[in-house]
Amino acid sequence: MASGLPWGTVTKSATQPVNNTFAYLDGGWRPLTECTVPVNTHALQYGTGCFEGIRGYWSGDRINILFLREHFQRLAGNAALLMMKSPTVDEMCTIATRLVRQNEPKHNIYIRPMVYKKGLTLGPVLIDVPDGFLCYMQPLGDYLDTSKGLSVCVSSWQRLSDNSIPTRTKATGGYLNSALAKSEAVMNGYDEAVFLNDRGQVCEGSAENIFLVRGGELITPDRTADILEGITRRAILQFAKDLGIPAVERPVARTELYLADELFLVGTGCQVSWVRSVDKRVVGAGTRGPLTERLQRAYEDAVYGRNPAYASWLTPA
Ligand code: PMP
Repeated sequence: MASGLPWGTVTKSATQPVNNTFAYLDGGWRPLTECTVPVNTHALQYGTGCFEGIRGYWSGDRINILFLREHFQRLAGNAALLMMKSPTVDEMCTIATRLVRQNEPKHNIYIRPMVYKKGLTLGPVLIDVPDGFLCYMQPLGDYLDTSKGLSVCVSSWQRLSDNSIPTRTKATGGYLNSALAKSEAVMNGYDEAVFLNDRGQVCEGSAENIFLVRGGELITPDRTADILEGITRRAILQFAKDLGIPAVERPVARTELYLADELFLVGTGCQVSWVRSVDKRVVGAGTRGPLTERLQRAYEDAVYGRNPAYASWLTPA
């Protein structure tokens, strides 16, 4: 039912799952619609889960899964940190690859694996609650529009801190923080929100890491800034190294956003999306900047398998 709210760039076609795909839930393969959990599931009640988002790119004759192992290594580490038991990295890679093979998609996809507390007991505790694992996929075009410059705002919502819900864990419950910021941004007519952390420093978007260019240097908040240690962020830093672009990870002040020559968001969902304005202040010349364009092209060439130097990032399904 139409809500009357201005949904902005969160397009329904980009975010809706397809019900007739096969999915994996706790040891079994079933149609997605039959993968259900009881209403008193711990993860549903308390947000006790952690997840990944993985892209598969259709290259004309097959799907190449981007950073398959890296995503499951991050998930296994985060699950252990949150006292959840995940399948092994190898097992999860096999499940995700089989998921794609079974569903035979012929377009870009998004794979969503999750480790979750499947116990049915009362009480927000992580110990002695059984764990589950699920994995499903859906089509995914652009999550944010990568061609048009985004209009972003600094959020009035503060980013979760490492000592509350560590954002680096990609915990399901932590995404309420993202949802509040994104909703506020969209309701106010922006495409996306940028968080500040509890020290007032620039952190990340609701589901993206952030990069600035100032004086020819690429800058991104460092790993202690309450960010998710993004896999796309790491890829961008690798491109910078390979292309000879100076790059630094360091604390970033809010007003640096307003003085940046170029600004862009990166992530599995948004890929490389350039920002036209922050809090109504136009970034640089108000067009996609030259370094952003180089990095966006490098990213697209790598993920579509057009640059053999990055072939190891892709797993054919
Ligand atoms: N930050 C947050 C909060 C995210 O949800 C995401 C998406 N996973 C990112 C950054 C980007 O991370 P990645 O490049 O690993 O997808």
